[in-house]
Amino acid sequence: MKVDASSYKSFDPALIAPCGINCGTCLAYLRAKNRCGGCRIPADPKPKHCVQCSILNCVHLAETTSGFCYDCVKYPCQRMKQLDKRYRKSYNMSLLENLNLIKELGINRYIVQENAKWRCPTCGGTICVHRGYCLSCSK
Ligand SMILES: [Zn+2]
Repeated sequence: MKVDASSYKSFDPALIAPCGINCGTCLAYLRAKNRCGGCRIPADPKPKHCVQCSILNCVHLAETTSGFCYDCVKYPCQRMKQLDKRYRKSYNMSLLENLNLIKELGINRYIVQENAKWRCPTCGGTICVHRGYCLSCSK
């Protein structure tokens, strides 16, 4: 199957969570049923642990201008280090690296990288960070 790059949808910058997770690659976003719109999008149904997220609800995050944790006076805080450790261990991705890249490149150039990183080479769908494969074609 030939991949049509023009049909590939770019990630919305609003999908990049304050902690550096790309909600667009999250299982809760990619699944068909009870779909979450991303942690910055308030209306949609969300997993409980996301609603109660101590990062999203952090008072220091609210004081940042960028809306990302790298901008915080406490960065990287204990909570952020723990989450980074969990994602490195379980999903082979460092959130602190993501955040440093967002800071360095700016969100728009970061999105270009993310588009390339998570695009399924087989069908052009999105690879899920939690599953490690494309949810559209299972490759
Ligand atoms: Zn695919």
